Amino acid sequence: RTKEQGKNHYQFYSPHLTAEAELLLRLESLLHQALEKKQFSLQYQPQLQYKTGKIVGMEALLRWETPAYGMIMPQKFLPLAAKTNLILHLSKWVLKTACEQNLSWQKDGLPPIPVTVNLSAKEFQQPHLATVVASILDETGLDPQWLELELTELTLRQNLNLARKTLQDLQNLGVRIALDDFGRGFSSLGYLKQFSFRTLKLHQDLIRDLRGTSEELGLISAVLAIGKGFNMRVVAEGVETSEQLNILQNLDCTEIQGYWFSRPLPTKEATALLSKITRNNDIDSTNFMSLP
Ligand code: C2E
Ligand code: MG
Ligand code: MG
Ligand code: MG
Repeated sequence: RTKEQGKNHYQFYSPHLTAEAELLLRLESLLHQALEKKQFSLQYQPQLQYKTGKIVGMEALLRWETPAYGMIMPQKFLPLAAKTNLILHLSKWVLKTACEQNLSWQKDGLPPIPVTVNLSAKEFQQPHLATVVASILDETGLDPQWLELELTELTLRQNLNLARKTLQDLQNLGVRIALDDFGRGFSSLGYLKQFSFRTLKLHQDLIRDLRGTSEELGLISAVLAIGKGFNMRVVAEGVETSEQLNILQNLDCTEIQGYWFSRPLPTKEATALLSKITRNNDIDSTNFMSLP
Protein backbone atom coordinates (compact mmCIF):
# COMPACT_ATOMS: atom_id res chain seq x y z
CA ARG A 1 0.00 0.00 0.00
CA THR A 2 1.29 3.45 -0.82
CA LYS A 3 0.48 6.67 0.92
CA GLU A 4 -1.13 8.20 -2.22
CA GLN A 5 -3.95 5.73 -2.04
CA GLY A 6 -4.85 7.51 1.15
CA LYS A 7 -8.18 6.79 2.68
CA ASN A 8 -9.33 4.69 -0.22
CA HIS A 9 -6.69 2.07 0.25
CA TYR A 10 -9.16 -0.35 1.72
CA GLN A 11 -10.92 -0.72 -1.59
CA PHE A 12 -8.04 -2.86 -2.82
CA TYR A 13 -8.75 -5.34 -0.11
CA SER A 14 -12.49 -5.27 -0.06
CA PRO A 15 -13.94 -8.71 -0.65
CA HIS A 16 -15.90 -7.85 -3.83
CA LEU A 17 -16.54 -11.40 -4.86
CA THR A 18 -17.75 -12.42 -1.47
CA ALA A 19 -20.10 -9.46 -1.35
CA GLU A 20 -21.53 -10.31 -4.74
CA ALA A 21 -21.83 -13.96 -3.85
CA GLU A 22 -23.63 -13.01 -0.67
CA LEU A 23 -25.96 -10.70 -2.53
CA LEU A 24 -26.81 -13.44 -5.00
CA LEU A 25 -27.44 -15.90 -2.22
CA ARG A 26 -29.84 -13.46 -0.61
CA LEU A 27 -31.52 -12.82 -3.91
CA GLU A 28 -31.85 -16.52 -4.50
CA SER A 29 -33.61 -17.02 -1.21
CA LEU A 30 -35.81 -13.99 -1.86
CA LEU A 31 -36.88 -15.40 -5.21
CA HIS A 32 -37.40 -18.78 -3.64
CA GLN A 33 -39.72 -17.22 -1.06
CA ALA A 34 -41.48 -15.28 -3.78
CA LEU A 35 -42.22 -18.54 -5.58
CA GLU A 36 -43.54 -20.09 -2.39
CA LYS A 37 -45.65 -17.06 -1.59
CA LYS A 38 -47.04 -17.12 -5.13
CA GLN A 39 -45.86 -13.59 -5.88
CA PHE A 40 -45.13 -14.45 -9.50
CA SER A 41 -47.80 -14.36 -12.11
CA LEU A 42 -48.08 -14.41 -15.86
CA GLN A 43 -49.76 -11.84 -18.00
CA TYR A 44 -50.79 -12.73 -21.53
CA GLN A 45 -50.48 -10.49 -24.54
CA PRO A 46 -52.50 -11.47 -27.61
CA GLN A 47 -51.16 -11.66 -31.12
CA LEU A 48 -53.79 -10.50 -33.56
CA GLN A 49 -54.19 -11.58 -37.16
CA TYR A 50 -55.62 -8.36 -38.40
CA LYS A 51 -57.21 -9.67 -41.62
CA THR A 52 -59.30 -12.29 -39.89
CA GLY A 53 -59.70 -10.56 -36.55
CA LYS A 54 -58.49 -13.73 -34.85
CA ILE A 55 -56.15 -14.06 -31.93
CA VAL A 56 -53.43 -16.37 -33.20
CA GLY A 57 -51.29 -16.61 -30.09
CA MET A 58 -50.77 -15.44 -26.54
CA GLU A 59 -47.36 -14.48 -25.19
CA ALA A 60 -46.83 -15.20 -21.51
CA LEU A 61 -44.98 -12.41 -19.70
CA LEU A 62 -43.69 -12.78 -16.18
CA ARG A 63 -44.62 -10.39 -13.37
CA TRP A 64 -43.43 -10.22 -9.76
CA GLU A 65 -45.83 -8.63 -7.32
CA THR A 66 -44.02 -7.61 -4.14
CA PRO A 67 -45.67 -6.21 -1.02
CA ALA A 68 -42.95 -3.58 -0.62
CA TYR A 69 -42.33 -2.43 -4.19
CA GLY A 70 -45.46 -3.35 -6.10
CA MET A 71 -45.13 -4.90 -9.52
CA ILE A 72 -41.59 -5.57 -10.67
CA MET A 73 -41.06 -6.04 -14.39
CA PRO A 74 -39.03 -8.94 -15.79
CA GLN A 75 -36.19 -6.85 -17.12
CA LYS A 76 -35.56 -5.63 -13.57
CA PHE A 77 -35.20 -9.01 -11.92
CA LEU A 78 -34.58 -11.61 -14.62
CA PRO A 79 -30.98 -10.61 -15.37
CA LEU A 80 -30.20 -11.00 -11.67
CA ALA A 81 -32.25 -14.13 -11.28
CA ALA A 82 -30.31 -15.58 -14.19
CA LYS A 83 -27.19 -15.44 -12.04
CA THR A 84 -28.71 -17.85 -9.57
CA ASN A 85 -29.91 -21.40 -10.03
CA LEU A 86 -33.36 -20.29 -9.08
CA ILE A 87 -33.95 -19.13 -12.65
CA LEU A 88 -34.34 -22.77 -13.59
CA HIS A 89 -37.12 -23.32 -11.03
CA LEU A 90 -38.73 -20.09 -12.05
CA SER A 91 -38.65 -20.99 -15.71
CA LYS A 92 -40.21 -24.37 -14.97
CA TRP A 93 -42.94 -22.59 -13.10
CA VAL A 94 -43.49 -20.26 -16.08
CA LEU A 95 -43.63 -23.14 -18.54
CA LYS A 96 -45.98 -25.17 -16.40
CA THR A 97 -48.29 -22.24 -15.64
CA ALA A 98 -48.49 -21.18 -19.29
CA CYS A 99 -49.18 -24.75 -20.45
CA GLU A 100 -51.86 -25.26 -17.81
CA GLN A 101 -53.50 -21.97 -18.71
CA ASN A 102 -53.52 -22.79 -22.40
CA LEU A 103 -55.06 -26.18 -21.71
CA SER A 104 -57.67 -24.54 -19.53
CA TRP A 105 -58.62 -22.21 -22.43
CA GLN A 106 -59.00 -25.24 -24.66
CA LYS A 107 -61.16 -26.94 -22.05
CA ASP A 108 -63.32 -23.81 -21.99
CA GLY A 109 -64.00 -24.50 -25.65
CA LEU A 110 -61.87 -21.68 -27.06
CA PRO A 111 -60.18 -22.38 -30.40
CA PRO A 112 -56.69 -23.78 -29.73
CA ILE A 113 -53.83 -21.30 -30.11
CA PRO A 114 -50.17 -21.51 -29.16
CA VAL A 115 -49.04 -19.99 -25.90
CA THR A 116 -45.62 -18.44 -26.17
CA VAL A 117 -42.98 -18.66 -23.45
CA ASN A 118 -39.73 -16.70 -23.47
CA LEU A 119 -36.52 -18.54 -22.73
CA SER A 120 -33.49 -16.75 -21.36
CA ALA A 121 -29.98 -17.79 -22.30
CA LYS A 122 -29.41 -19.60 -19.04
CA GLU A 123 -32.60 -21.59 -19.39
CA PHE A 124 -31.77 -22.44 -22.95
CA GLN A 125 -28.36 -23.66 -21.95
CA GLN A 126 -29.58 -26.37 -19.62
CA PRO A 127 -28.31 -29.51 -21.28
CA HIS A 128 -31.63 -31.26 -20.73
CA LEU A 129 -34.05 -28.50 -21.60
CA ALA A 130 -35.96 -30.72 -24.01
CA THR A 131 -36.45 -33.31 -21.27
CA VAL A 132 -37.73 -30.63 -18.91
CA VAL A 133 -40.14 -29.34 -21.54
CA ALA A 134 -41.26 -32.86 -22.42
CA SER A 135 -42.07 -33.68 -18.81
CA ILE A 136 -44.03 -30.46 -18.36
CA LEU A 137 -46.05 -31.20 -21.50
CA ASP A 138 -46.60 -34.67 -20.19
CA GLU A 139 -47.67 -33.52 -16.72
CA THR A 140 -50.04 -30.87 -18.01
CA GLY A 141 -51.31 -32.82 -21.00
CA LEU A 142 -50.91 -29.93 -23.45
CA ASP A 143 -50.37 -30.97 -27.06
CA PRO A 144 -46.80 -29.82 -27.94
CA GLN A 145 -48.00 -27.92 -31.01
CA TRP A 146 -49.70 -25.42 -28.69
CA LEU A 147 -46.48 -24.42 -27.01
CA GLU A 148 -44.17 -21.94 -28.68
CA LEU A 149 -40.76 -21.11 -27.24
CA GLU A 150 -39.20 -17.74 -27.98
CA LEU A 151 -35.52 -17.10 -27.97
CA THR A 152 -33.26 -14.39 -29.24
CA GLU A 153 -30.26 -14.50 -31.49
CA LEU A 154 -28.11 -13.52 -28.53
CA THR A 155 -29.16 -16.70 -26.77
CA LEU A 156 -28.30 -18.85 -29.80
CA ARG A 157 -24.95 -17.17 -30.18
CA GLN A 158 -23.73 -18.11 -26.73
CA ASN A 159 -23.23 -21.73 -27.63
CA LEU A 160 -24.06 -22.59 -31.20
CA ASN A 161 -23.38 -26.31 -30.95
CA LEU A 162 -25.56 -26.75 -27.91
CA ALA A 163 -28.20 -24.51 -29.50
CA ARG A 164 -28.29 -26.70 -32.57
CA LYS A 165 -28.83 -29.84 -30.52
CA THR A 166 -31.35 -28.32 -28.12
CA LEU A 167 -33.40 -26.79 -30.92
CA GLN A 168 -33.44 -30.09 -32.75
CA ASP A 169 -34.57 -31.92 -29.60
CA LEU A 170 -37.29 -29.34 -28.98
CA GLN A 171 -38.49 -29.49 -32.56
CA ASN A 172 -38.58 -33.27 -32.35
CA LEU A 173 -40.98 -32.87 -29.44
CA GLY A 174 -43.24 -30.91 -31.74
CA VAL A 175 -43.10 -27.52 -30.02
CA ARG A 176 -42.81 -24.36 -32.11
CA ILE A 177 -39.77 -22.13 -31.99
CA ALA A 178 -39.89 -18.39 -32.52
CA LEU A 179 -37.00 -16.01 -33.02
CA ASP A 180 -37.70 -12.97 -30.84
CA ASP A 181 -36.49 -9.42 -31.28
CA PHE A 182 -35.43 -9.80 -34.90
CA GLY A 183 -34.05 -6.54 -36.26
CA ARG A 184 -32.30 -5.55 -33.06
CA GLY A 185 -28.54 -5.86 -32.90
CA PHE A 186 -26.92 -8.26 -35.31
CA SER A 187 -29.86 -10.07 -36.90
CA SER A 188 -27.73 -12.37 -38.93
CA LEU A 189 -29.53 -14.05 -41.79
CA GLY A 190 -27.34 -17.10 -41.33
CA TYR A 191 -29.30 -18.17 -38.27
CA LEU A 192 -32.52 -18.20 -40.21
CA LYS A 193 -31.01 -20.67 -42.63
CA GLN A 194 -29.36 -22.85 -39.98
CA PHE A 195 -32.33 -23.16 -37.70
CA SER A 196 -35.92 -23.48 -38.73
CA PHE A 197 -38.15 -21.09 -36.87
CA ARG A 198 -41.91 -21.15 -37.13
CA THR A 199 -42.21 -17.51 -36.20
CA LEU A 200 -40.13 -14.41 -36.66
CA LYS A 201 -40.86 -11.50 -34.36
CA LEU A 202 -39.93 -8.02 -35.50
CA HIS A 203 -38.36 -6.08 -32.68
CA GLN A 204 -40.28 -3.05 -31.53
CA ASP A 205 -37.38 -0.77 -32.43
CA LEU A 206 -38.30 -1.36 -36.06
CA ILE A 207 -41.89 -0.40 -35.40
CA ARG A 208 -41.62 2.34 -32.77
CA ASP A 209 -40.63 5.27 -34.96
CA LEU A 210 -42.22 3.93 -38.11
CA ARG A 211 -43.27 6.87 -40.26
CA GLY A 212 -43.38 5.24 -43.63
CA THR A 213 -40.20 6.68 -45.14
CA SER A 214 -39.06 4.70 -48.14
CA GLU A 215 -36.05 3.40 -46.21
CA GLU A 216 -38.28 2.04 -43.46
CA LEU A 217 -40.71 0.55 -45.91
CA GLY A 218 -37.82 -1.03 -47.78
CA LEU A 219 -36.37 -2.52 -44.63
CA ILE A 220 -39.61 -3.97 -43.35
CA SER A 221 -40.71 -5.35 -46.69
CA ALA A 222 -37.30 -6.98 -47.05
CA VAL A 223 -37.70 -8.65 -43.65
CA LEU A 224 -41.23 -9.72 -44.55
CA ALA A 225 -39.95 -11.22 -47.79
CA ILE A 226 -37.32 -13.12 -45.84
CA GLY A 227 -39.99 -14.43 -43.51
CA LYS A 228 -42.07 -15.55 -46.46
CA GLY A 229 -39.07 -17.14 -48.13
CA PHE A 230 -38.36 -19.18 -45.03
CA ASN A 231 -42.00 -20.01 -44.57
CA MET A 232 -42.21 -18.24 -41.24
CA ARG A 233 -45.09 -16.43 -39.66
CA VAL A 234 -43.99 -12.84 -39.04
CA VAL A 235 -45.33 -10.95 -36.03
CA ALA A 236 -44.68 -7.22 -35.59
CA GLU A 237 -44.11 -6.35 -31.93
CA GLY A 238 -44.79 -3.05 -30.24
CA VAL A 239 -47.56 -1.81 -32.52
CA GLU A 240 -49.03 1.11 -30.60
CA THR A 241 -50.77 3.35 -33.11
CA SER A 242 -53.15 3.01 -36.03
CA GLU A 243 -50.56 4.80 -38.20
CA GLN A 244 -48.10 2.02 -37.54
CA LEU A 245 -50.81 -0.53 -38.16
CA ASN A 246 -51.74 1.03 -41.51
CA ILE A 247 -48.17 1.03 -42.70
CA LEU A 248 -47.74 -2.60 -41.70
CA GLN A 249 -51.00 -3.59 -43.33
CA ASN A 250 -49.98 -1.96 -46.60
CA LEU A 251 -46.86 -4.08 -46.50
CA ASP A 252 -49.03 -7.14 -45.89
CA CYS A 253 -47.73 -7.71 -42.38
CA THR A 254 -50.94 -8.62 -40.68
CA GLU A 255 -49.90 -10.30 -37.48
CA ILE A 256 -49.38 -7.78 -34.76
CA GLN A 257 -48.73 -7.65 -31.05
CA GLY A 258 -48.77 -4.40 -29.16
CA TYR A 259 -50.62 -1.87 -27.07
CA TRP A 260 -52.80 -0.81 -30.00
CA PHE A 261 -54.69 -4.06 -29.74
CA SER A 262 -53.98 -4.99 -26.15
CA ARG A 263 -51.51 -4.65 -23.32
CA PRO A 264 -50.39 -7.82 -21.59
CA LEU A 265 -53.37 -8.88 -19.47
CA PRO A 266 -53.82 -10.75 -16.20
CA THR A 267 -55.29 -14.23 -16.71
CA LYS A 268 -58.88 -13.26 -16.05
CA GLU A 269 -58.91 -10.40 -18.53
CA ALA A 270 -57.00 -12.45 -21.09
CA THR A 271 -59.64 -15.15 -20.83
CA ALA A 272 -62.42 -12.59 -21.22
CA LEU A 273 -60.76 -11.13 -24.31
CA LEU A 274 -60.33 -14.56 -25.89
CA SER A 275 -63.99 -15.42 -25.39
CA LYS A 276 -65.13 -12.03 -26.61
CA ILE A 277 -63.08 -12.27 -29.81
CA THR A 278 -64.30 -15.79 -30.42
CA ARG A 279 -67.91 -14.71 -30.10
CA ASN A 280 -67.55 -11.73 -32.46
CA ASN A 281 -66.35 -12.99 -35.78
CA ASP A 282 -66.60 -9.75 -37.71
CA ILE A 283 -64.98 -7.33 -35.38
CA ASP A 284 -63.62 -4.02 -36.63
CA SER A 285 -61.00 -1.79 -35.13
CA THR A 286 -63.50 0.31 -33.24
CA ASN A 287 -64.44 -2.81 -31.33
CA PHE A 288 -60.80 -3.50 -30.69
CA MET A 289 -60.23 -0.10 -29.21
CA SER A 290 -63.02 -0.55 -26.74
CA LEU A 291 -61.82 -3.90 -25.46
CA PRO A 292 -60.31 -4.03 -21.96
P1 C2E B 1 -40.20 -9.66 -25.20
O1 C2E B 1 -40.29 -11.13 -25.18
O2 C2E B 1 -39.68 -9.04 -26.44
O3 C2E B 1 -41.67 -9.15 -24.86
C1 C2E B 1 -42.23 -7.96 -25.36
C2 C2E B 1 -42.17 -6.84 -24.36
O4 C2E B 1 -42.69 -5.66 -24.96
C3 C2E B 1 -43.01 -7.06 -23.10
O5 C2E B 1 -42.38 -6.38 -22.02
C4 C2E B 1 -44.31 -6.36 -23.49
O6 C2E B 1 -45.07 -5.96 -22.36
C5 C2E B 1 -43.78 -5.16 -24.21
N1 C2E B 1 -44.75 -4.61 -25.18
C6 C2E B 1 -45.73 -5.24 -25.82
N2 C2E B 1 -46.39 -4.43 -26.65
C7 C2E B 1 -45.83 -3.21 -26.51
C8 C2E B 1 -46.09 -1.91 -27.12
O7 C2E B 1 -46.97 -1.73 -27.95
N3 C2E B 1 -45.25 -0.91 -26.73
C9 C2E B 1 -44.26 -1.09 -25.83
N4 C2E B 1 -43.51 -0.04 -25.52
N5 C2E B 1 -43.99 -2.28 -25.24
C10 C2E B 1 -44.77 -3.33 -25.59
P2 C2E B 1 -42.18 -7.06 -20.60
O8 C2E B 1 -43.39 -7.86 -20.23
O9 C2E B 1 -41.70 -6.02 -19.66
O10 C2E B 1 -41.02 -8.11 -20.87
C11 C2E B 1 -39.75 -7.67 -21.24
C12 C2E B 1 -38.86 -8.81 -21.63
O11 C2E B 1 -38.62 -9.68 -20.52
C13 C2E B 1 -39.47 -9.71 -22.68
O12 C2E B 1 -39.31 -9.13 -23.97
C14 C2E B 1 -38.71 -10.98 -22.49
O13 C2E B 1 -37.47 -10.92 -23.14
C15 C2E B 1 -38.46 -10.98 -20.99
N6 C2E B 1 -39.45 -11.87 -20.33
C16 C2E B 1 -40.73 -11.64 -19.97
N7 C2E B 1 -41.28 -12.70 -19.37
C17 C2E B 1 -40.33 -13.66 -19.36
C18 C2E B 1 -40.27 -15.03 -18.89
O14 C2E B 1 -41.24 -15.60 -18.39
N8 C2E B 1 -39.09 -15.69 -19.04
C19 C2E B 1 -38.01 -15.10 -19.63
N9 C2E B 1 -36.88 -15.81 -19.74
N10 C2E B 1 -38.03 -13.85 -20.11
C20 C2E B 1 -39.17 -13.13 -19.97
MG1 MG C 1 -40.91 -12.50 -26.40
MG1 MG D 1 -37.10 -10.90 -25.78
MG1 MG E 1 -39.58 -9.25 -28.37
